[in-house]
Amino acid sequence: MTDPDRPEPTRVVVAGGGTAGWIAAAALIRQLGPLVTVTLVESDEIGTVGVGESTIPTARGFHAFLGIDEAAFMRATQATFKLGIAFENWRQVGDRYFHPFGSVGRSVMIADFQHFWLEARRRGFGGAYGDYSLEQQAAAAGLFGQDEQNALAYAYHLDATAYVRFLRGLAEPWGVRRVEGRIERVERDGEGGDIAALVLASGERIAGDLFIDCTGFRALLTGGALATGYDDWSEWLATDRALAVQTESVAPPVPYTRAIAHDAGWRWQIPLQTRVGNGLVYASRYMSDDQAHATLLAGLESRPLFEPRPLRFAAGMRRQSWNRNCVALGLAAGFIEPLESTSIHLIMNAVTRLIQLFPFRGDDNTALATRFNAQSRYEWEHIRDFIILHYHVTQRRDSPFWTDCARMRVPDSLMERIDLFRASAGAWQGQDDLFRIDSWVSVLLGQGVQPRGHHRIASVIPPADLKASFDSLTGGIAQTLRALPRHGDFVARHCGASAAM
Ligand code: FAD
Repeated sequence: MTDPDRPEPTRVVVAGGGTAGWIAAAALIRQLGPLVTVTLVESDEIGTVGVGESTIPTARGFHAFLGIDEAAFMRATQATFKLGIAFENWRQVGDRYFHPFGSVGRSVMIADFQHFWLEARRRGFGGAYGDYSLEQQAAAAGLFGQDEQNALAYAYHLDATAYVRFLRGLAEPWGVRRVEGRIERVERDGEGGDIAALVLASGERIAGDLFIDCTGFRALLTGGALATGYDDWSEWLATDRALAVQTESVAPPVPYTRAIAHDAGWRWQIPLQTRVGNGLVYASRYMSDDQAHATLLAGLESRPLFEPRPLRFAAGMRRQSWNRNCVALGLAAGFIEPLESTSIHLIMNAVTRLIQLFPFRGDDNTALATRFNAQSRYEWEHIRDFIILHYHVTQRRDSPFWTDCARMRVPDSLMERIDLFRASAGAWQGQDDLFRIDSWVSVLLGQGVQPRGHHRIASVIPPADLKASFDSLTGGIAQTLRALPRHGDFVARHCGASAAM
């Protein structure tokens, strides 16, 4: 008989050892300890997707949750700091705007900052919206530091392969059992029942109570065995292929990701300590593979370290992230293209949610799964809308891709946001929204949306007072910048190869 004070541990089987698999395994064993056993199956022969190198600030909270030491993590993954994303050629060819992390304007007064900024512009003073973002100004100047008084909001650029190795290095000593081998078959409890076990090519059978599908785009458990449906979002997000390549570093790393639009998509530049990650995302309906290859190579700023690797995907998400006794994470759960670097965040959030709603042995999973799926859907659709915004709100009409993006009918949930902003400069954020008002406003303004009006409360402030508060904001930012070191120097000191071990 089971002792209620010592319940039988729940047997968790993680299928796949990419970023998703090792994040899940590490977090589950770390947080649930004796309540679970965690076995991870991966195939060296198949390998991992090998991309996913730009993150958002939530990664820091997740690392803290696991007790990860920042300098050790950064040294192991050749990481650099990231303060936001520079968007080039999105509004128009030759245009550039920045989506910074953190707050813009440090929330001066009652209404959101953009209303006061618009009022200042109307009165003929005040700089660009981004002048009031500490992160954007630090990024533009190539500066970075960690000062408790003026904390910058930041994330990381990291080496994806090294990150997987680093997570494995944590998870195995914490108690995760790793099994190397190819999953050949997924065994179910009778016709249409739960997943009972994974059967490997070697014949080994790995039984479990809860299965986490982290097999990447293959989605062997959720897509294969359980035939979970997929909501396809390609009508709004037409990009479906990518080419990825690394290049030599020829300059100190900048503290931001570059997202440079081209005729049928965009390309990324992610600077690490010793190399740069590059990739071209494109829509195969509008650009051939050969054109994509040529466009990528033409944009490289230094020598490629290998032949570009092709990747294919379909924008969308599983209808149920949690189906029966299987939870899909990472690419197996769906894919929203990497424009705002949200995939690793989605993995971390889903694992945290799974821990909060964990189905212990003997629990009835149904209500837990329903809650998990509702939260996942809200989260994914919110991010989807934010990404569509970048494509839809553009003044570009120089290629069929951009003309179609501008003309497409977008989801009502997004249209509502665009309409509100156009009419009144209004924006909002729900409790579970990843992208805050500052992010929506940065991208809406950056993409060239001009509000017709703004909140009248801003006009009540005497112009001299309004001007003084704007001057004090820029003055404060300038003062902070003067104390910040160069990003490359800070990285070298904090976590470079020669930093104290
Ligand atoms: P994978 O890395 O593909 O891992 C799958 C695992 O399953 C591997 O271990 C594989 O060996 C195993 N496996 C598969 N089949 C079997 C089998 N039969 N038997 C045994 N094992 C098996 N995310 C970001 O957050 N930021 C970014 O900048 C970013 N850029 C991206 C750019 C592109 C072009 C793409 C496609 C994705 C990007 N992502 C990004 C997403 C990110 O790469 C993934 O979310 C992340 O790497 C997680 O991948 P995964 O672990 O789900 O899949």
